[in-house]
Amino acid sequence: MRILVVEDEKKLASFLKRGLEEEHYAVDVAYDGEEGWYLSQVNDYDLIILDIMLPQMDGFTFCRKLRSQQRDTPLILLTARDAVEDRVTGLNLGADDYLVKPFAFAELLARIRALLRRKDSRFAVRLQVADLILDPVSHRVSRAGKPIELTAKEYALLEFLMRHAGEVVTRTQIAEHVWNQDFDSDTNVIDVYISYLRQKIDRDFEPKLLHTVRGVGYVLREEP
Ligand code: CA
Repeated sequence: MRILVVEDEKKLASFLKRGLEEEHYAVDVAYDGEEGWYLSQVNDYDLIILDIMLPQMDGFTFCRKLRSQQRDTPLILLTARDAVEDRVTGLNLGADDYLVKPFAFAELLARIRALLRRKDSRFAVRLQVADLILDPVSHRVSRAGKPIELTAKEYALLEFLMRHAGEVVTRTQIAEHVWNQDFDSDTNVIDVYISYLRQKIDRDFEPKLLHTVRGVGYVLREEP
């Protein structure tokens, strides 16, 4: 899952990026509204965290422009002031949620998960394909009852595949939702991670769940 953070306070922005990456999200950061807007136009984010007081373009304007494009990307506003008018303005412009600084990181995470669940029923509390189980809160993965240890990137890739279980996903979709701006599309890094994942979730188990669809991408499913 890929998140855009638009926040001009560098310390807070890097704290959010680090914390979210520890939770296995792919994160891009913009330090002003214009840069954030540009990134929101060229990438397909699963969620946006947006400060209100920003240089170049403020959070309210950003929010209004995004919603006028009919895009329903979940959006959480951050503000330094706990003013009722700000909250009302933000929600009226189409923000989904609101946090007043300073906030507890655990609360931000809980709100992110709640928003993703609300947007899409695939964001269930627990994901399961055959006997493969993934818990998005504890990040525990198991197959046939045996715990499986994954690196952060392997986990993020598996989570994306499980949320799209039964659908063929392309390398481009994987790159857009599992990696951030730094992703180099000239490499075979996705295929490499797919093979790591296969070793861990499929090698010692039957039936095989992770399938290659030649020329298209990958699909996670229990084949009949
Ligand atoms: Ca600010």
